[in-house]
Amino acid sequence: MSDSDSTDTTQADKFSSAAEIAQANEDSRFMMMAMQMAAKAEEKGEVPVGAVLVKDGAVISGGFNYSIGLHDPSAHAEMQCIRQAGKVLQNYRLLDSTLYVTLEPCAMCAGAIVHSRISRLVFGANDEKTGAAGTVIDIVRHEAFNHKVEVTAGVCEAACSEQLSAFFRRRRKEKKAVKALAKLAAEECAKR
Ligand SMILES: [Zn+2]
Repeated sequence: MSDSDSTDTTQADKFSSAAEIAQANEDSRFMMMAMQMAAKAEEKGEVPVGAVLVKDGAVISGGFNYSIGLHDPSAHAEMQCIRQAGKVLQNYRLLDSTLYVTLEPCAMCAGAIVHSRISRLVFGANDEKTGAAGTVIDIVRHEAFNHKVEVTAGVCEAACSEQLSAFFRRRRKEKKAVKALAKLAAEECAKR
């Protein structure tokens, strides 16, 4: 190997890592927007999961989990986001786009991601119970499907996990408080 060859290799390595750093920064930035969408779900008493769809560096749509409020089991953050993106782009295919979501998609959402031809999926926390992007099952990269989605897992993972954990902690506490209050009321009534 000549000197110039080794220099070229080094420069190529530097370039790829710089590109990777830029991508990682962009991923974090959009994941934070997805977390803001998740906060909207929480405001409505829903499990805080949020998503944004990005195409050509711009946010096309956002969605948050709204299943309880809409009486719609399909109203997951990803589905809401995908539906809105289709309307914005006036296309049922969401080619060359990236979906950012705070929690690993379930089988339904992973299926919708494949159907809409989203090219890349970036998610925060793994879903140990229903994750369909590699944890429980891998629908987005299934061998049998024509379309395979590029997956980046674990972006802002700690923050995304904490957003969910904090919600469930608060909810347990609230339920406990309601129970304690009911017990107190029952005791008071019994005394009369
Ligand atoms: Zn889902």
